[in-house]
Order: sequence, then C-alpha cells, then structure tokens
Amino acid sequence: MPFDYDDQNIFAKILRGEIPNDTVAETEMSLAFNDISAQAPVHVLVIPKGAYTCHDDFAANASDAEIADLTRLTARVIAEKGLSTGDDGAGYRIITNSGRDGVQEVPHYHLHILGGRPLGRMLEKG
Ligand code: AMP
Repeated sequence: MPFDYDDQNIFAKILRGEIPNDTVAETEMSLAFNDISAQAPVHVLVIPKGAYTCHDDFAANASDAEIADLTRLTARVIAEKGLSTGDDGAGYRIITNSGRDGVQEVPHYHLHILGGRPLGRMLEKG
C-alpha cells in the first residue's frame, strides 16, 4: 500500500522555511530541532528532509544515504547532548510514533531523542 504524504504537515512547513524551528543540527538530508513541548530536559526531533510519513515508509523508500544520514545525525545529537552511553552512561530513549495506534500527531517521519533525566518504564500497561 503506498504511503500518502500530506505536504501541509507542520514539519513540511518547517522544512520549507514557512515556520521557524529551534535547530540543533543539520545536514544536507536531515534536520534536528528541539521539540516545542519538551517532555524531558533533552527532547530533540530528528527528521529526514525527504517526504516520508513514518518509519516503514522511510525504510522502504529512502535511499541508503538518507537512512545512514538520519542515523548518524541522531547519534551526533546524542553525543553533543552528553547522553552517549559510551561516556558516563547517562543514556537516552529514541521513540518513533507511527499511525493511529502509535498516536502519531505529525505525519512526517521523525525520531524523538529523550534524555537528561530517568525516563521510567517504556510503556504504561493497558
Ligand atoms: P508525534 O506524536 O510523534 O507525531 O510527535 C510530534 C511532536 O512534534 C510532538 O512532541 C510536538 O510537541 C512536536 N511539535 C509539534 N509542532 C512543533 C513545532 N512547530 N516545533 C517543534 N516541535 C513541534
């Protein structure tokens, strides 16, 4: 089934420069910026600049270069924020919400990087 990308979503508007963002890091293919409603001391969103709706769309349709770029930019933000488990073991959580059951609000693929405090259990039961 094809993925139906809505180019009026808020991250598409950020990428077109129609609304501002608080950029953390950027490459030719990917952008990292602070979440407007932070859930933790570090809450950065990492998005591809290409038009992909969710993880399975990105995995199926992005180029290897785009996938590598997003993965490496995510790691760069983790390192620059001092969250790398290779340093003091602080750690972090990466979340990507997809679709209805994943409660995805913005239909442009994105990773949430969360850290800076103990993050609790992964999911509430129920
Ligand atoms: P999700 O539920 O995974 O789609 O999460 C979307 C995230 O985008 C939420 O954490 C929002 O706080 C965040 N968000 C929405 N609009 C903006 C914006 N203009 N700049 C930065 N983050 C935003």
